[in-house]
Amino acid sequence: MSPIRVLDRSVADRIAAGEVVDRPASAVKELIENSLDAGAQSITVEVEGAGLGLIRVTDDGCGIPAEEIPLAFERFATSKIERLEDLDVITSFGFRGEALPSIAAVARVTLTTRPRDVETATRAVVTAGVVERLGVHGAPVGTTVEVVRLFFNTPARRKFLKSPAREQALVAEAVQRAAMANPAVAFRLRFDGRESGWWPRGDPASRVADLLVAGAPSDLIGVAGAVPAGSVTAWLARPERSRPNRTGQHLFVNRRPVQSALLRRAVEQGYAQLLPVGRFPAFALFLEIDPASVDVNVHPRKLEVRFRDEHRLFGAVAAAVREALLASPLVRVMMSPGAPGPQAPGAPDHLLATTASQALLSTHEPRGTYAAREEAPVANAAVATVGANLLFPSLRPLGQLLNTYILAEGPDRLYLIDQHAAHERVLYERIIAARRRGGVPGQTLALPLTVDLDPAQMALVIGHLDLLASLGYVLEPFGARTMLVRAVPALSARIEPEAMLLRAIGALAGEGEGPDVLERLSIATACHTAIRAGDRLSPEAIGALLADLAAAENPYTCFHGRPTLVAVSRDELDRWFLRG
Ligand code: ADP
Ligand code: MG
Repeated sequence: MSPIRVLDRSVADRIAAGEVVDRPASAVKELIENSLDAGAQSITVEVEGAGLGLIRVTDDGCGIPAEEIPLAFERFATSKIERLEDLDVITSFGFRGEALPSIAAVARVTLTTRPRDVETATRAVVTAGVVERLGVHGAPVGTTVEVVRLFFNTPARRKFLKSPAREQALVAEAVQRAAMANPAVAFRLRFDGRESGWWPRGDPASRVADLLVAGAPSDLIGVAGAVPAGSVTAWLARPERSRPNRTGQHLFVNRRPVQSALLRRAVEQGYAQLLPVGRFPAFALFLEIDPASVDVNVHPRKLEVRFRDEHRLFGAVAAAVREALLASPLVRVMMSPGAPGPQAPGAPDHLLATTASQALLSTHEPRGTYAAREEAPVANAAVATVGANLLFPSLRPLGQLLNTYILAEGPDRLYLIDQHAAHERVLYERIIAARRRGGVPGQTLALPLTVDLDPAQMALVIGHLDLLASLGYVLEPFGARTMLVRAVPALSARIEPEAMLLRAIGALAGEGEGPDVLERLSIATACHTAIRAGDRLSPEAIGALLADLAAAENPYTCFHGRPTLVAVSRDELDRWFLRG
């Protein structure tokens, strides 16, 4: 090995720069944050060659006084904090004084800036960290930072970049995240001279709608709630706008885009059972909390955050999301592709902004074109906790279709109800309610039934006799290989003791869905006792099922996240028949 020596300044700077600027998108993010910290009202981002050719960020912020320019390119030079204690109450985006020197260490940077009360602009060119030239230049108030040939002197860094298309997409995401969190600032994005996005100054709801659901504000559900040491505001995409991945999930803490598995899981828990397996909610969530209760300094690019009171924060966010979702009409309205209106499926989540406008999503008021709106003019945010869903449409049953679906008429709509999914939902909620009251009642069999089991099944049952009893299964070992079934859950007319027991044993063994054994057992029990597809139903049974569904806390999906009912609007029916 060679002797130990201190690294050359320019080598050290390049290594350090890699921590902050690892790809064009992170340079863009840092420059935008500087513009926001400078109080800009309008920010333009121009990118050429996926950011390796040119990145130019122009703002109309406060500018930098000429004499401070060299300092701006010094590491750990910042105008934003002075003392170590300031780190606990950070409200600006920047605070490390590392972005400009880092970028300048790995590119040629031209800075043109003019403070508000100064007549002339100043221009500086910095290459590989060396300030080359300071000249006077005519320019409007504000700052333009041009980054040319990023990573020209760090070939290894270049090698780790993804394809130009991917890097460009990451740049677009960085701009979109900043735009989402700063609706009062206008953003413009250009790629290779072509405008790719424009977001005029606007209100938070329409900015989020533009970016999250391609401008359809009625596809968003607003959330406003309190959390420990702060508040949460969020816009949630309706369940049918879910995605096959987590690309639509945007988290902000004090307007800073962050990653937080905790917050992500809290929101997803709020959507529990509203989405099928493999679908993920899209949302923008803004946490405003006391800077002292969050640590943003755990990651060089300030991405990961930690919270003081994680447990209570999780609960508060999940509850606020749940309450807002269940307080809005979530019936899925079916529309043929190409139909006008916000629910048209397949609308691309593209980058281009529309000027979505009058949306006021900050309340729980039902919105959109839902029938439920006429029936429930007063939105009741407490719906989720009292159990009855006031927004559920009143349905007049028309009959059964294919022994599988129930047809019903609601205000101005045709409804189709999946009889199995609907009954599963009803029974599941009945089980949850009974569990809260101390247990599901058992239906005692006139003649106890013996069921032969293998030793593993016997052991499982014997190990969970109390749990099974709380769900209404009264069981008694009857010899080494036989179980005596005395009672099964009294939930519905379908009583198949042996099949129910075997299904319950499956749940105990870990089969099926649900976070824990009690939940899996509840789901298996509801699923097994529910009306099935193919069961012929009497008009009375149909009426009872619809009434029960209307009384459910979440009548819209079964616990697998599949819809229990869908609606077809009158307009849609008219379209089918080429009317009007
Ligand atoms: P930090 O943002 O952490 O302070 P930077 O290296 O990003 O560090 O910027 C250094 C300093 O340069 C900032 O503290 C600020 O005073 C100044 N600065 C950078 N960009 C701008 C801008 N767009 N407008 C006004 N001042 C800026
Ligand atoms: Mg900065």
